[in-house]
Amino acid sequence: MLEYHQQSSREIMEMLDVTNQGLNNDDVQKRQEVYGLNKLVEGKRPSTFAVFFGQFKDLLVIILMIAAFISFLLGEVGSTIVIMIVVILNAILGTVQHVKAEQSLDNLKALTTPVAKVMRNNQIVEISSEDIVVGDLLLLVAGDYINADGRLLESHNLDINESSLTGESLAVSKSTDPIDEVHVTIGDKRNMVFTGSFVTNGRGTVVVTAIGMETEIGKIANLLDTAKQKKTPLQVSLDHFGENLALGITMICLAIFTIDLFRGRELVESFMFAVSLAVAAIPEALSSIVTIVLAFGTQKMAKENAIIRKLYAVESLGSVSVICSDKTGTLTENKMTVQQVYVDQKVIPYDLLNTEKSIEKNLILMALLCNDALERDQKEIGDPTEIALVKLGKQYELDELFVRSHNPRVAEIPFDSDRKLMSTVNHINEQNIMITKGALDVLLSKIVKIDTSKGIFPITEEHRKKIEEVNRSFSMNGLRVLAFAYKEFNGNQTIEVEDEKDLIFVGLIAMMDPPRKESKAAVESCIAAGIKPVMITGDHKITATAIAKQIGILDDPSEAIEGYEIEGLTDQQLQEKVQNISVFARVTPEHKIRIVKAWQDKGNVVAMTGDGVNDAPALKQADIGVAMGITGTEVAKDASSMILTDDNFSTIVKAISNGRSLYTNIKNAILFLLSGNAGAIFVVLYATVLGLPVPFAPVHLLFINLLTDSLPAIAIGLEPHNKKTMKDKPRNIHTPLLNKKFTTQVILEGLLIGISTIIAFRMGLATGDTLTASTMAFATLCLSRLIHGFNSRSKESIFKIGVFTNKYTWLAFLIGFVSLHAVLFIPSLTGVFEVATLSGVQLAYIYCLSFMPFLVNQWYKVLFVRSKK
Ligand code: ATP
Repeated sequence: MLEYHQQSSREIMEMLDVTNQGLNNDDVQKRQEVYGLNKLVEGKRPSTFAVFFGQFKDLLVIILMIAAFISFLLGEVGSTIVIMIVVILNAILGTVQHVKAEQSLDNLKALTTPVAKVMRNNQIVEISSEDIVVGDLLLLVAGDYINADGRLLESHNLDINESSLTGESLAVSKSTDPIDEVHVTIGDKRNMVFTGSFVTNGRGTVVVTAIGMETEIGKIANLLDTAKQKKTPLQVSLDHFGENLALGITMICLAIFTIDLFRGRELVESFMFAVSLAVAAIPEALSSIVTIVLAFGTQKMAKENAIIRKLYAVESLGSVSVICSDKTGTLTENKMTVQQVYVDQKVIPYDLLNTEKSIEKNLILMALLCNDALERDQKEIGDPTEIALVKLGKQYELDELFVRSHNPRVAEIPFDSDRKLMSTVNHINEQNIMITKGALDVLLSKIVKIDTSKGIFPITEEHRKKIEEVNRSFSMNGLRVLAFAYKEFNGNQTIEVEDEKDLIFVGLIAMMDPPRKESKAAVESCIAAGIKPVMITGDHKITATAIAKQIGILDDPSEAIEGYEIEGLTDQQLQEKVQNISVFARVTPEHKIRIVKAWQDKGNVVAMTGDGVNDAPALKQADIGVAMGITGTEVAKDASSMILTDDNFSTIVKAISNGRSLYTNIKNAILFLLSGNAGAIFVVLYATVLGLPVPFAPVHLLFINLLTDSLPAIAIGLEPHNKKTMKDKPRNIHTPLLNKKFTTQVILEGLLIGISTIIAFRMGLATGDTLTASTMAFATLCLSRLIHGFNSRSKESIFKIGVFTNKYTWLAFLIGFVSLHAVLFIPSLTGVFEVATLSGVQLAYIYCLSFMPFLVNQWYKVLFVRSKK
């Protein structure tokens, strides 16, 4: 049998049993039943069980289990049972957190599954790429990722980048001709396309020949390890910090262990105490708290139209100091309507054209022919710029499909934001006519004649000046201008970029794309937050300046430059200049990379938006690459770290604000955990140095650290978004979270908790009963840490942020409070947890002392905020 590349497209269609109308629903269903979904098999995920058992791999847990075993050997079965219960409960808690976090990250991932356009039932439909079946007709345009292998049926200047398969970074130009040879390498199969490659230029139609693991990449790929989420820089540094801290604490524990032995305490008792102190002091949950907070946070952001693709982006979001944003569709609505037309050397409002006059009608016809958009049943398909032209046609009862069917297209060069032009060749009145539309500044140099109602004349300098003047006056009103030109084309059925010359000018069409309502406020909020908004657009400088002024991005026209001006600057010069520029017009994707780099070299963290295939390198270069969810190509989405589902600039600003809050919440949760641990260490050190009895039984420390601690930490991580974060300047990305100020805060807050606990301990000791003393110390440490959860919500006083605004902190507090009282008062538990029966007065003391760190903390915050004012 012949290979696919050897056969003609007709033979392949017959073999795969598909017509030009595509498959019907029955075909699709049957094929899906036989071949399954178009998916590469993913690496297997650990089951919930495996996750649960994974919790026991932690070094501290292993030490605890050894301790439990030793207790068992020594006949202390009670301790063994308690330790095992605590360890198992801790593992359950860890598993629930892990599974919950994975679920929300999965939901996030599901929002970004790739889509494909296919022809089915004679209609173009967009489907999830997983649903592609063998025999489907795939429609490809520039910027599409290819998600199946297939044979080309139609190709218009189709270039495909196959670097992921062949390593060749240059795009390959494709054609539909069969290839005779049998053994051809992937790179030489010019009439086939493959999963994992993407379209850089042109358009084409492909019949799918293989899906899923049967594709070329499926055959060579190992199992995809998509299940694994990389750790974020913050998590890595926390892990690192945790390791160092663990080392330090182990030393302290060893010292305490030795001192205890020296003072004549029993070996096992001393050992158990040292182990539990280690568990109490080492913040093993740091990294997992960050994961769960990030997972919940990103889910919330997705609901607000910002889908985070790379978790580490959330951390950088709070440090963004420059947003480079596209104009069209991001700052503006991307709803274009034609306003003015310049034809036959006159400016005419859009609704006063006269189609009786052939030149005016011809301009509209050209606008419909050199155009891929359509409008049917009030549904618009295609580029908004072109839709505006279709609507103009409708206004004069010229239907785009009717016009196109009577003047069929024979060749085309699609629109490209680098060239800023689009050309088609149409068969009109027995003649082939090439129509070119695009930016006037690019087109004008290719024009040699001008069409008027009096005939066609060579274009004079005066004509050019007049056209440019009209173009400028349109642009100054914020209008986007398209120029139209044509010529008779006698070449064969293909056209090249070089053919775009010796054209005859017909006219200009100017359209309005109003700024989005939210843009102005979002720009204001950016500036207040110390973030510089910059407009980067392919549009004309004057149009861009007019819109930028309306939304407050630019004050002075000198803040706008054009892409070509960048070309004359060295990187160093651009760096110096970039800070004073708010609008970059007529920019190509290559300029975008230089602009991002210049800002970055000046020490900024840059968010950059993009939609086209050529934007991918700039999106990757930016610290936060932001792709458009609606108009963005699959390639741009793939290169980005965040996708806007509404393409809206204000969503970026909201995401930054969310990113800032999330980072603060994570920081507060860590502060809560570390300061509580520090409190416990201070008490133990105090007792050891003064030679007092041991303040806590091991089980007390395990209870606090493994059971009542993580819920408040998560609750703090879920603190509602604080709008005030957008009044601060961006966080310096190089300032480590665990800096001097933070460490001092941990120590001071730990001291407050420690002092309360020591007072409670000493009161207990005064009764002469060490069990009462340790019970009072335990209860105070536990309760003061639970109450301290409210302190850690914000650097502001709780009365300012609202006592009840975070219901999770209340829930976490209540669960901890009830658990503590269960341990203190349920008779069957008091023995197990080694607690004495407390009197009402003692309990009252415990409440008061536990409240003390909270009072001091809040008093300080109230004063601090006042003095700041
Ligand atoms: P942004 O980068 O802000 O999205 P943009 O959408 O205005 O900018 P492009 O789409 O690259 O940038 O358009 C640049 C210029 O190309 C426009 O000013 C217009 O003159 C021309 N142009 C835009 N769309 C088309 C099209 N479909 N056909 C021909 N020319 C076009």
